[in-house]
Amino acid sequence: MFWEKEIEYLNREDLDNLILIRIKDVWERCKRSDLYKKKYAGIEGVHNFDDFRRLPFTTKQDLRDSFPYGDLTVNLDDVVRMHSSSGTTGNPTVIFHTKNDLNEWSNLLARSMYMAGVRKSDIFQNIMGYGLFTGGLGFHYGAEKLGTMVIPIATGNSKRQIWFMQQMKTTVVHFLPSYALRLAMVFDEENIDPKRDTNLRIGMIGAEPHSEETRRKIESLYGIKAFNSYGLSEMNGPGVAFECEYQSGMHLWEDNYYMEIVDPESGEVLPDGEWGELVLTTLKREAMPIVRYRTRDLTRIIPGQCKCGRTHRRIDRIKGRSDDMLIINGVNIFPMQIEKTLMQVDGIGTNYVIEVKKDKFLDKINIKAELDSAFLKNNKSSPDMIKCKVMECLKSELGVNPIVDLLDPGSLPDQQGKVNRVVDLRGDVI
Ligand code: AMP
Ligand code: ZN
Repeated sequence: MFWEKEIEYLNREDLDNLILIRIKDVWERCKRSDLYKKKYAGIEGVHNFDDFRRLPFTTKQDLRDSFPYGDLTVNLDDVVRMHSSSGTTGNPTVIFHTKNDLNEWSNLLARSMYMAGVRKSDIFQNIMGYGLFTGGLGFHYGAEKLGTMVIPIATGNSKRQIWFMQQMKTTVVHFLPSYALRLAMVFDEENIDPKRDTNLRIGMIGAEPHSEETRRKIESLYGIKAFNSYGLSEMNGPGVAFECEYQSGMHLWEDNYYMEIVDPESGEVLPDGEWGELVLTTLKREAMPIVRYRTRDLTRIIPGQCKCGRTHRRIDRIKGRSDDMLIINGVNIFPMQIEKTLMQVDGIGTNYVIEVKKDKFLDKINIKAELDSAFLKNNKSSPDMIKCKVMECLKSELGVNPIVDLLDPGSLPDQQGKVNRVVDLRGDVI
């Protein structure tokens, strides 16, 4: 059994006291890093929640600017692992862990999986990327801590996934919601019914936005209960917030993360129940504490107590982002990366549109860019050669393969006023 009863059901007053002790502690520790030494220079002590809420935020840019080691608060000797966020604009955001950090993170995932009903007797197929991405290794060690057998199969090869599921009698899976839908099609093509012909009972889905309807669809296709899992690499990865058996919002583990919901424009802290941007602070991480991190994810704290009795407050399904980051099959992509790449390729004009759509449940990016008439007149490059070059550069910048359509100069509508180059046609992204 893995159930941290004392912590998960701690009464609110004691939980708040614990959080206060930990925010004072993180405040003291964070200033050992170059990042916070500079950011919080001249700021007096933090004695209460109000003091803490006045501290300047940390942004993704701050983390990038302190690449690679400017946000460490321990000796590099004590660091045992790093991970990185899936976005690739400029310096990646890298996150460091000590042994204790990894242990804490595994505990959080074990706790989350247990809360969703996973037990030692389960067989767990982890269909998530292993490596720098946190979804694979994060769940892997959590499941091992729980004592559950893990099949670290990672992503790809749908037929092999199904084969393993059947042969090993897998009962629990972790996959991207978009991949869950895609895999269901392969089941269908193979004439295998996941409800009848597998032992699956629980799915853990997350890492990308999805609607309640998508969850229900996955549940009915596979005959499982699917639990929403929220996390971000800056806060370790998965294991930040997770659904319990009641599937009515995700309990955010408040003994490890201090949460605030702020107005994305003014930065002011909003009361429980109001929608805004989630701001998180790591309370226990040793190697790299992060204070008041602007996640850019839009959600709200669900007022009231959950039926399960856990006191850690719940956040609602992520409704969107307060920046323009796109999540394409779990990979973070900023439109600026696409623009930067297009503008580097000779022969591409300045007018372009990025369409994002669903094709057989997978996200597809379709970039429509006008050719540059002057370049075409003066050079021998054919549109096909330019297209090859663009595709190669985009693949290397984004890590995914977009569809590219090169159009005659002047074929796209002239962009006037506030330019909006992204058209998101994915229906179920809320
Ligand atoms: P990464 O740091 O690459 O793991 O990406 C983290 C981002 O993925 C988060 O900031 C969210 O925007 C998104 N994300 C993760 N889990 C979920 C979820 N359950 N629902 C919606 N978006 C999610
Ligand atoms: Zn609950």
